[in-house]
Order: sequence, then C-alpha cells, then structure tokens
Amino acid sequence: MRSRIRFAVRIFALALLAVMTASPLAFSQESEAAQFLTALIKIDTSNPPGNEASAAEYLKGILEKEGIQAQIYEGKKRPLLLLAHLDVVGVERSKWTVDPFAAMIKDGYIYGRGSIDDKGMVAANLEVFLRLHREKVPLDRDVIFLAEAGEEGTPRFGIEYMIAEHWDQIDSEFALNEGGTALMENGKLKYMGVATTEKVPRGMTLMAHGTSGHGSIPRLDNPVVHLSAAVAKLGSWQTPMRLNETTKLLFERLANLSEPKLANALRNLHDESSQKLLASEHPELYSKLRTSIVPTIIKGGFRSNVIPAEAEATLDVRALPDEDIDRLVAQMKELVNDPAIEIRRVAENNRPFNPPSPVSSEMFAALEHAQQKLFPASVTLPDMLTGATDGAELRAKGVKVYGIAAPKTADDERRVHGNDERMPLAGLDQFVEYIDAATREVAVAK
Ligand SMILES: [Zn+2]
Repeated sequence: MRSRIRFAVRIFALALLAVMTASPLAFSQESEAAQFLTALIKIDTSNPPGNEASAAEYLKGILEKEGIQAQIYEGKKRPLLLLAHLDVVGVERSKWTVDPFAAMIKDGYIYGRGSIDDKGMVAANLEVFLRLHREKVPLDRDVIFLAEAGEEGTPRFGIEYMIAEHWDQIDSEFALNEGGTALMENGKLKYMGVATTEKVPRGMTLMAHGTSGHGSIPRLDNPVVHLSAAVAKLGSWQTPMRLNETTKLLFERLANLSEPKLANALRNLHDESSQKLLASEHPELYSKLRTSIVPTIIKGGFRSNVIPAEAEATLDVRALPDEDIDRLVAQMKELVNDPAIEIRRVAENNRPFNPPSPVSSEMFAALEHAQQKLFPASVTLPDMLTGATDGAELRAKGVKVYGIAAPKTADDERRVHGNDERMPLAGLDQFVEYIDAATREVAVAK
C-alpha cells in the first residue's frame, strides 16, 4: 500500500521578469548603465548561496520607478520526505506475553508488532505532517509524507517501485527515515544516533568441488575439507579497516561517552589491542570499521560413509559504502588460495551502494538542534548502520537521508524483530517533537 500526500508549495531561488509594454526607457547615457553596474556589484551575490533576492529587489525598484511592472519569481527548495514503512516482520505468537496485534497499553508502553519498526515512525511522521497542515504553516519546501510497503525483504514492491514509477513525486533534497538509535539509560538520553549511511549486503556462496567416494577411503579433494578450510580463513580474516566522514566523527564522539578502556580503543583504532577489544566485546562497533564476511550456512554431505562431490557455504558479506567488490573477491580468492573453491556472488537482497549523507548539511544540523532543544545534556552521533534500510535506495538517487529513532532503552531495542516489541509512550511523544522541530527548521518559510 502506498500513500502520498503533498502540500503547501513554496519558494526559493528566483528569476526576475519584466515586460515592457509601452515607451521604452531612455537608457541614453553610459553613465547610467555604469551606475546600475556599480550598484549590482555592491550587492554580494556570491554563489553559493547566491542571495540573488537583494539584487532582484534592486532591479524591481529601478523598473517600477520608471513605471514598468516587474515580478520576482521565487522557485522553491527541494522537498523533505518523511519516510516510514507499513509492513512488519512476522511473529512467533507463542513467545509473546500479549497479543502482538492488539496494541495493548501497559506500564507506559504500547505493545505490538511494528510498534517500533516502523509503525511508530509512520504515526510520528503523520502527526508532524498534520500539525503543519492544520497550522497552515508557510513552507520553503514541500513536505512529503510517504508510508511505503515492502521494506522487510521485498523492496521491489516498496521503495524500488516508487523510485522506478513515481520518482518525480518523491524526488527530495532530504529524507528522514528509520535507522537511528536514541538510547535511554537511567531515564536520560545517552545519545541520539543519526544514520547517514549503511553497509550494503553483498551475499556470496563458496562452492567446493571434489570427487565423491567411500568414506573409508580418504581423498585429497574431499570438498568438506576444502570448504572447511576456506570458511575458516574467510571467517577469521580481518578485512582492511577504513573509516569515512561519519564513522570518524562517530568514534570521536563515542569515545567521549565511553568508559576508559573502550574510549582508549576508540581513540587508537590502529592498535592491535583495540581491534581485539572491539572484535571480542563490541562486535557491533567492529563491524563499522570494515567490510565483514560472516559465514552463516554450511551444507555438504548426506550420509556418514559417503564423501560428497560438493559442499557449499553461505557468506553474509556486508560491504562498506565505498567497497570495490571485484577487488574484494580477488582478495578473498587469494586468501583462500584453493582452485577447488569457487566464490559465487548472490544477487538476492542486494541494496545499492550509498554514499554517506553529509554531516555538514542543513538537515543534519536541524536534527542536532532538535536534540539540543529536547535533550540538552545529550549529544548527536552520526552513524553508519551495519544493517540495511530503504535509505540506501534513496541515497543512491542523490537524496540526503538521515535515519532517526524514538528514544528507548536497550531492552526496548532488543525486542525489535523479536518478542514483545513495544514503544514507550513517552518516547513516541518525544519522537514527534524531535521530527517536528527538525522539519520546521528546514521547511518552514524564513
Ligand atoms: Zn524497519
């Protein structure tokens, strides 16, 4: 299901058009033109940002003094897209303590599948959207509300469809999307994580080929042995570390919030001891440093006394946003160094490479200001997600996408895609205020 409401078109950039209807102006002397030029030079229209409005106003004044009607045409800033998805993942009903589809309210929480992921954001976006509409707030840019389908595994029915078929309706400068982390600890917001980019899934399989035979006769080309060795090498390979603008700033700011041991590791990422600490105790941070190769499935053989002709392993590869996949596969081949092993790429569930949305943008600044207003003691951390969202498709189209979230505890966060998913009612209301403040800062006419 797709719905899209768009409203209140307004303003920016401009052109000045004057139509001369009757007797032409007597621009008889060079000195008058020289005066015009002098005045125009004195109005600084360095682009960016241009500020052409003052120069246009000057021209309008001159023309009107001469009795010529002049009109200033203001274009508009490109829209802001408020994005969220309507589909949810399934439930293991027997593991829930409440009906996952009853939206039961208990102890300050609203329980239900999708309460956080992502109907909470649908509801918050809708509330902000309606407020702007009801208050008839004049806007510098369109605000587009998009509640989309297919995020949880079938983006071709959701964001891919919208981009392919209705791009002109959602083409935006900025988008707010799921994917942030607003961590509450002891009733206080520890940090507001804003996702500017994400790793991209690039699934692969390893195929080992050999000769089948009797299990009583060892063979050098036993595919189970070859596959195991390849999986062990790739699964323990520390791929090259590479930071981008977002992760650099993330680790810098996160160090200031962390206990001494972790802070030290984050400030000295090139040390082997730091790498070890992150790999063993903070795998979610370790994954942000590099492309990760994680073996998830091994298949091979069917009887205990038969050597199979083939064995296969599945690798969940999550590439950094600037990864060169051909080069990565070449490095993997070199590391495996075994002609019996074939590396195959899986096209399924791939998302486009998405360059990080800048932390220097008007939208990121507005989100930081909203955090400072609502949670002055906290801090905003730019983040690179290790998982995937529809933000990737939009970034690949040039939209600056920022992933945000409602304030909640780590326990609430763990329930996403799990059992007893729940949204704190207070967190939902704070989320509305956060989106509201940031939206107004970038969209309301100044
Ligand atoms: Zn989601």
